[in-house]
Amino acid sequence: MKIKEILKRMFIERDCIVCGEPISYDNIDYVCEDCEEDWYNLLTTRCNSCGNERDLCFCLPNLVKEINDSLAIWCVFYDKEKNPNANRIFFDLKKKGYRSVVKVMAEYISKVLISYCYAHNIKYKTFAITYVPRRKSMRRYYSFDQSEKLAKALGKLLNLPTFSCLDNKGRKEQKKLNKYERLENARKSYQLKKNAKVEYKNIFLLDDIITSGASMRACAEILYDNGAKSVIPVAFAKDNYKKGE
Ligand SMILES: [Zn+2]
Ligand SMILES: [Zn+2]
Repeated sequence: MKIKEILKRMFIERDCIVCGEPISYDNIDYVCEDCEEDWYNLLTTRCNSCGNERDLCFCLPNLVKEINDSLAIWCVFYDKEKNPNANRIFFDLKKKGYRSVVKVMAEYISKVLISYCYAHNIKYKTFAITYVPRRKSMRRYYSFDQSEKLAKALGKLLNLPTFSCLDNKGRKEQKKLNKYERLENARKSYQLKKNAKVEYKNIFLLDDIITSGASMRACAEILYDNGAKSVIPVAFAKDNYKKGE
């Protein structure tokens, strides 16, 4: 075996992003053979509301629709019921912050973002990337913020500046609240960091997943209130769970 080959094996991560098991080196995919179906299902899940594939779906939670004339970018539908196994990748992102998962998600987002911007005549090179931050207590607990990791990886791929400008001092977990309580809670939780400058900026606001849209909405409001020129929500996935939301 050539030295180059040995080094490659040592330093390039080769774990399946669905189950976390090592992948044989000959496999060029992100997933092992056992997980191929789960991963394919995640990528091809259709929208619960309109029944379309991702490319033809324009459904968004109202809270997100109102941010910027329905401009929002996401890659796949997250469906707890249809695809329970692929949910593992979100678990690994949120709880373990796996580099391989971050990398694959960022790659997908970058591809979708570029084609979306091209189709909508948006000059993405004029944008900077920020993110919906994790609750402070959770960030402390896990010692990282998955959205920050994603934002940095995406910034590298797109060659765009990434910056942190929001705090999340929320105490309540959004999951346990209904849609209206979520927005109220989100508005209380997020705030602009001291000295953060967002005036006149075009901003991609990144999160791993859009659920009710309350967090995206609250953060976008802060950015606009502080002079941002435009804010476009970006996520890897959109929750498919609640029909008609
Ligand atoms: Zn696997
Ligand atoms: Zn749809």
